Amino acid sequence: MNIFQKMAERGHEELIFCSDDEIGLQAIIAIHNTVLGPALGGCRMYPYKTFEDALCDAVRLARGMTYKASVAGLNLGGGKSVIIFDPKVIKNDPVKRELLFRSFGRFVQGLGGRYITAEDVGTSVEDMEFVNMETDYVTGIPLALGGSGDPSPVTAYGVYCGMLACVEKVFGNASLKDRSVLIQGVGHVGKCLVDFLNKDKAKVFIFDPDKEKVNCVLEQYKNTESVEQDDIYGLDVDIYAPCALGATINDNTIDQFKFKIIAGCANNQLEVEEKHGRLLLEKGIIYAPDFVINSGGLINVYSELEGYNRERAMGKAGGIRDVVAKVLDIAEKENIPSYLAANKLAEERIAAIRNTKKFTIK
Ligand code: NAD
Repeated sequence: MNIFQKMAERGHEELIFCSDDEIGLQAIIAIHNTVLGPALGGCRMYPYKTFEDALCDAVRLARGMTYKASVAGLNLGGGKSVIIFDPKVIKNDPVKRELLFRSFGRFVQGLGGRYITAEDVGTSVEDMEFVNMETDYVTGIPLALGGSGDPSPVTAYGVYCGMLACVEKVFGNASLKDRSVLIQGVGHVGKCLVDFLNKDKAKVFIFDPDKEKVNCVLEQYKNTESVEQDDIYGLDVDIYAPCALGATINDNTIDQFKFKIIAGCANNQLEVEEKHGRLLLEKGIIYAPDFVINSGGLINVYSELEGYNRERAMGKAGGIRDVVAKVLDIAEKENIPSYLAANKLAEERIAAIRNTKKFTIK
């Protein structure tokens, strides 16, 4: 593999390979683009089969963070890190966990703030506490330590606001009253989303394989109904909100869709971006790109860098409504899939800011 060629193809700035053999740490930090600010992105722990798999994941995810931060209007670049390790192995070994994450934290500190880390798949808030012992450049730490705590309510609020923009586009008024919404997954974000929709008197349908979570939502909220797994993709509702897994918009599901809108928090909803993004456009389904509508989580950790204030984070997440509206307008005007419109918006902002940096002021 020609690493420089791979970096150049997608515009990556820097790759850092971290090895601490004594502790057993092998990690890759990928910094995609820092035109807008330091590269922020989570640290994923996964037992990658090969080095190439880990590298591909790191660079792909880092690039995604550049776009997400840019379109959300944040002064952040895109980065991501991966630790090649099976989290199950250290699940019950806090000592090993501490050593691994403190070692990783030292590598992050060595970058002097060009990369800021956070939790991601396979890592937890507790792990970030260990990272925090070694570096100033970590976010997503608990409220008690001056961090931003659970981002889910902010993410859910952003999704709700983005949904309003979609509804306005399709129905001509920004109200969810009596609109039907299917939420796939009532975990941290999905459950908060039920709350917002319930307040607006939307009719909510839910599915989650975890029956306890389903029952908890049904008990707490009237106007809510559960559906069976097999009925999800053909359900006749206005809005589909994927709030669990990625790649649910795929060859097997898309033909069943009667939805007018897709707006949810799950990452990577389009199985194949180019193909399924285009198919949604052809079917006339309004799709709020995942990395735009779920940027509340990133907005939340960004607020941590400024001195955390939940109200401010919520206010900024409310801006997702305008961003989604803008993306949908561009997509309509140019007759392109909305994910492409969002990419364009992100790229334009980076290019504009790059231009303002063409002369030195100190
Ligand atoms: P979570 O783990 O709390 O909730 C996920 C829920 O999905 C769980 O209740 C789980 O039982 C359910 N689930 C699992 N398989 C399912 C299936 N086949 N069908 C329906 N439900 C299923 O996660 P979360 O924090 O609520 O995040 C949800 C998604 O949003 C994830 O893809 C995450 O990456 C993404 N996301 C989350 C945030 C955030 O702030 N938490 C921010 C951005 C993106």
